[in-house]
Amino acid sequence: MKTIIEPFRIKSVEPIYFTSKKERQNFLEEAFYNPFLLHSTNVLIDLLTDSGTSAMSSHQWAGIMQGDESYAGSPSFFRFKDTIQQITGMPLVIPTHQGRAAEKILFSILGGKGKYIVSNTLFDTTRANIEFSGAEGVDLLCEEGKYPSIPAPFKGNMDVEAFKKFIAENGAENIPLCVITVTNNSGGGQPVSMQNIKDVKAVCVENHIPLFIDACRFAENSYFIKTREKGYENVTIREIAKELFSYADGCTMSAKKDAFANIGGFLAMYDEGLAIECRNLLVITEGFPTYGGLAGRDLEAIEIGLNEVMDENYLQYRIRSIEYLANKLTDAGVPIMQPAGGHAVYLDAKEFLSHIPVSQYPGQALVGALYLEGGIRCVEIGSLMFGKYNPDGDLIPAAMELVRLAIPRRVYTQSHIDYVSEIIIEVFKNKKDIKGLEISEEAQMLRHFTAKLKPIH
Ligand SMILES: *Cc1c(COP(=O)(O)O)cnc(C)c1O
Repeated sequence: MKTIIEPFRIKSVEPIYFTSKKERQNFLEEAFYNPFLLHSTNVLIDLLTDSGTSAMSSHQWAGIMQGDESYAGSPSFFRFKDTIQQITGMPLVIPTHQGRAAEKILFSILGGKGKYIVSNTLFDTTRANIEFSGAEGVDLLCEEGKYPSIPAPFKGNMDVEAFKKFIAENGAENIPLCVITVTNNSGGGQPVSMQNIKDVKAVCVENHIPLFIDACRFAENSYFIKTREKGYENVTIREIAKELFSYADGCTMSAKKDAFANIGGFLAMYDEGLAIECRNLLVITEGFPTYGGLAGRDLEAIEIGLNEVMDENYLQYRIRSIEYLANKLTDAGVPIMQPAGGHAVYLDAKEFLSHIPVSQYPGQALVGALYLEGGIRCVEIGSLMFGKYNPDGDLIPAAMELVRLAIPRRVYTQSHIDYVSEIIIEVFKNKKDIKGLEISEEAQMLRHFTAKLKPIH
């Protein structure tokens, strides 16, 4: 097979910033071992997130100039709405400034004390918005999704039997919503199969529970369905996406992911009554319903990006480029979540740094080591992000200790990725020198964004 090449050429470039190891040692201390507190100008390869970091196309930049900034009834909104209606089939479209703004609105209405929102895995902002409303978020991930080293085609699937059991024990009337996250960002960027969505939908219908899709990476998930699920080999991405959305009653999306936009998000749904309630909150928190916290130019960039992302040459390159990094690491014996995810490679920090107990945050320690060695920034998805405390103040760890190397869309070339793999392999060889961390300061919610840590000597 021939090399799968980047399906674009580069028209505009940005500098990246070289630093010495000694400088990085200082920067890391000044940032309290938290990558979110680093200045991005002190980062060489930034794999912190694929959110809002995509390179926009010349077509999107042209769309930005055509954005109509009218307060109400802008043609940019109608183009945005039409595209989302075409992709999802959902008639009611509400723009928001990010995915979490859509979540905040939705869960302010559907959440509340005594309620459960059930999911394959809720993303951190989704969970935080559910908990902030007083409701409880429940992750019911399939069994194979819980073992990083064991490959399976659809490790993002929801455990349908566990879902039925949860309903029987807690009552369908206490479950106002089921959310399926595609792909499963917090669980290794692993896809969900069409069959699983159908099965979950059947349980939802039987129990009168609405189903929403957290659609941030719907195109990447659709590509996995095309290449891994029987019967979809010859179906277009657009048709697969349409079928996927057809099982849902609504969706939330962050346009900072698969829409290649630097900002934006939306809610879409069928239910008029729910949409009215959402719009009522929208006007007090986001803006008028035809712009919802976005400029007209953002609506244009999103609309164009949503159409671009379904290009199969792009998706083949995208999924292959993640797999390329995963293969290099696997060949060197580095423990990673198998198989590679759609937008990121996830290092298995529990295995990588088996000498560091989970109470000393091995994922965060690994994040620091990769920055120090090579100026690479990435993020822990483990007990710093999802850990809780029991009444005695002991850590209740997360199910997995992962480090996510999220690859921004259309941004880095193969040589950047080769460099990343070289640094990780180097750190893996010297892993015994890495020390655990303790938290010296933390916030109540989403603590990983601002927590301060220090090494344990
Ligand atoms: C990024 C993300 C969100 C939140 O979107 P923001 O635009 O960052 O607010 C929600 N769910 C998933 C799966 C995400 O990846």
